[in-house]
Amino acid sequence: MIARVITDIALDREFDYLIPAALENSIRPGSAVDVPFGNTTRNGYVLEVAASSCYDANKLKELTGLSSRRAGIPEKLITLGKWMAEYYCATQEHAIRTLLPAAVRSGRVKSLVSRIFYIPDQKAAEKYILDNADAKRVVKRIEVLKLMFKLREGTLTEISGHPEYSPGAFDALRKAGIIAFREETLRRDVFGETEVVPDKPLPPTPDQQKALAMVNDIMDKKVPQHVLVLHGVTNSGKTEVYLQSIANAIARGKSAIVLVPEISLTPQTVRRFRARFGNQLCVLHSRLSDGERFDEWNRINSGEAQIVIGARSALFAPLHNLGLIVVDEEHEASYKQSEAPRYMARDVAVMRGKMEDAAVILGSATPSAESLYNAKQGKFLLCRMAAQVADKTKPVIRIIDRRLDPLPEPGTSNLFSPALIDAVQERLERAEQTILFLNRRGYARSLSCPACGYEARCPECSVNYNYTYSRRREILSCHLCGAVIPAPQSCPECGSQDIHYHGSGTEKLESCAHGVFPGARIGRMDSDTMRSSADYEVVLDKFRRGQLDILVGTQMIAKGLHFPGVTLVGVINADHGLSMPDFRASERTFQLLTQVAGRAGRGDRRGEVIFQTSKDSEVLHFASELDFEGFEKFDLEFRQMLNYPPYSRLIAILFRGEDEALLANYAASFAAALEPYKHENIRITPPAPAPIEKIKNKYRYLMTVRGTGLKTIREAIRILALHRIHPKGIDIAVDVDAQYLM
Ligand code: ADP
Ligand code: ZN
Ligand code: ZN
Repeated sequence: MIARVITDIALDREFDYLIPAALENSIRPGSAVDVPFGNTTRNGYVLEVAASSCYDANKLKELTGLSSRRAGIPEKLITLGKWMAEYYCATQEHAIRTLLPAAVRSGRVKSLVSRIFYIPDQKAAEKYILDNADAKRVVKRIEVLKLMFKLREGTLTEISGHPEYSPGAFDALRKAGIIAFREETLRRDVFGETEVVPDKPLPPTPDQQKALAMVNDIMDKKVPQHVLVLHGVTNSGKTEVYLQSIANAIARGKSAIVLVPEISLTPQTVRRFRARFGNQLCVLHSRLSDGERFDEWNRINSGEAQIVIGARSALFAPLHNLGLIVVDEEHEASYKQSEAPRYMARDVAVMRGKMEDAAVILGSATPSAESLYNAKQGKFLLCRMAAQVADKTKPVIRIIDRRLDPLPEPGTSNLFSPALIDAVQERLERAEQTILFLNRRGYARSLSCPACGYEARCPECSVNYNYTYSRRREILSCHLCGAVIPAPQSCPECGSQDIHYHGSGTEKLESCAHGVFPGARIGRMDSDTMRSSADYEVVLDKFRRGQLDILVGTQMIAKGLHFPGVTLVGVINADHGLSMPDFRASERTFQLLTQVAGRAGRGDRRGEVIFQTSKDSEVLHFASELDFEGFEKFDLEFRQMLNYPPYSRLIAILFRGEDEALLANYAASFAAALEPYKHENIRITPPAPAPIEKIKNKYRYLMTVRGTGLKTIREAIRILALHRIHPKGIDIAVDVDAQYLM
């Protein structure tokens, strides 16, 4: 028999090896093997086991053996990995690599093992004492034995903590076999010491019953579809549907995965799942140590844990007998991986569900156009949950057109409209809380000198993007490459002291808020102030306890946080984002605004929301009415008219290199090579400088391929990008179903 093996070097090629007779029964797709490669031995994974090879069998080498240190990959995941490599135009080894956490793949992390000491034979122990009655220090041995009889068993740390313990006597007893030990694998505790009070399923509302029945129908194969789009506003009880559907899957002897965006994988979220499922639950997120990740993975792979909650990569948890995958906030762009393989976790979840006969729930308050389209086409089921569980009035949302506001006095900030100032003032008087939202961090966006026309820009990056200025740290930072320089005190070109900062971010918003609302207690949450998850908890905790009146922040505060005291949300720049050169700009803005608006009035008081804008836009009107269906219709019509996804598929190809002429040339030849694969339903936008045309001295050219029936051209793109030699210094990133065209 032959094993097709992919090794850890990036060649996107499988190599055939003979399987030694002794291993015929133990090698299967997914097995971790060691193989001879040139003069060395390499790590590999078996992709396929075949009867014959197209190479001369006499020249094939035998594989060395199964790896003793690395775990294999479940066979079904190998199939998924192969599909990802093909569909996302990635190399096989990149795809295989994503299936396993590095901690498992490396073979370097080991289980934590602890020794438990005990007395294997009580009679022998007693006899030993009699036989050694005249030995020196026998008194101490008797003391130790008495202690062991009392404790029955324990780790050395536990035992040595007692006054009867003496190391010499303990060792003598161990050598004589009177005290023995066994090894136990310890689980590194990912939950810390916190206790969670178990809870019980709530009696479902009619909406929830409907959704639960649909998921059961899928699991029981009563419907042809295997995906349910669960559309319900925040608080409509989606999470409770997830929890009960998982319980239904477990009752059927199946396992389940819950994906949440990394940012909402907060301790509160995890606590809710733990309260229901206790130790059956595993957590996978980016803050785990290698050891913790290794343990969690093994707990899943061994079948000890049946439920996994985690961010994007938890999708590849090695569960056996998978029954359900939940993708919460399915519209989130963060489900797209930005490195190869550039997979969309939501779509891969749908694929894994299909391959493993599992139900998939795509839940969101604002489902993506793609998912709604699939529901419209009848490929997915759709369930809308209209009512909020706690019957609560919708917030009042007002749009304030800043162009109609009186001009600010010179030298004063223009961040607050008079309407917003009044509204905040009211909250302060009534001891209620306010959230002010601005989707930009930093103090200012640009620095210029009116005297000579100088504008500060990162010399290595795009000319369309400016530095972000942080006044507290007195630095300019480039948000494209991360470069940081000290903020100049005078113009670097002409020396003028009169330099100007323009544009604003959360840092400035906070400082202006102090000026406009003296005495108010103000906190800020953005990536500048939140250095660790502890910072995050501290600020949220203060706000929750009512120790802050105003919370200023970026989209970090937009996500699913529950603050009963908040009755006002002010969005400083509601139209920010609408001008992005991206067909998803409307969708993202709508999602963000409705999500932010959802932060107001979650207690028993009616909330108020103010969208400040300097632009007229239908999107803002739909958002201000919380009219998802109106928006959905508007957005789908627009996308259909221009033949954008979901009416077509889109592949973005990004070329990067330092030599712009060479890059432009190469990109053009790449596009030309695709010409033969074009057909009437395919449109190719030829390579041109990307909206961000340079990062870190690398020029960026973008081309897109859009249409239907893309399979053949996608295969051609894959081969051109991965297997054709391209000029040194140029790299190509293929992004199938790209989320951002920047
Ligand atoms: P979503 O995930 O849509 O935001 P949740 O499932 O978190 O909604 O539910 C919102 C609130 O309503 C939670 O506090 C939850 O405990 C409560 N809740 C959900 N379902 C029920 C139910 N069937 N009966 C009573 N309370 C419920
Ligand atoms: Zn100057
Ligand atoms: Zn830069």
